[in-house]
Amino acid sequence: MAYVELKAPPKPSNAVEEALADFSAIAKGLGVTLRHMFVKPVTMQYPEERPELPARHRGRHELERHENGLERCVGCELCALACPAKAIFVEGAENPPDAPVSIGERYAKTWIVNMIRCIFCGFCVEACPTEAVQLKRVFELADYTRESMIYTKEMLLAPAPKKEPEDSWLPGFLPEAAKQ
Ligand code: SF4
Ligand code: SF4
Repeated sequence: MAYVELKAPPKPSNAVEEALADFSAIAKGLGVTLRHMFVKPVTMQYPEERPELPARHRGRHELERHENGLERCVGCELCALACPAKAIFVEGAENPPDAPVSIGERYAKTWIVNMIRCIFCGFCVEACPTEAVQLKRVFELADYTRESMIYTKEMLLAPAPKKEPEDSWLPGFLPEAAKQ
């Protein structure tokens, strides 16, 4: 390995040279200050100012529903298998025939993600056959305890639609004509 010998700058020999050296150093410093006065700052007044997130930002998970309110998740556990960080735990159960939770035979009785482990890779989204899990644009996830970073199904489930669709093909909401 080659070493570069660093040489100290020559010492000023008299008071005039010393004053010139000081002035030059001050001018350099002021130059840097002036240059940055006209540059757009990279910082922002968060949280009053909100950042513009990239279009494909991956934030907190959400468990989606069909338009009739039934859960998209069928408890297949593929997301948990695909997760490289082992952050997801899913426990599936048989769907009650008279009050189905999802459109499949099974639904997710438990769906948990440990956000301390999650690396936001999106593999769970890619693995899901029903597009049930999505990574949303929610990024303010800081909290004080490890326990609070465990997100349960109840915390992640998308809100149920307020109005039932009139002509949904999905079970549980067959249109009147189809029931006859
Ligand atoms: S985004 Fe990646 S790390 Fe996070 S839960 Fe999904 S698969 Fe696991
Ligand atoms: S979120 Fe998708 S992959 Fe995960 S258990 Fe539910 S249906 Fe299966």
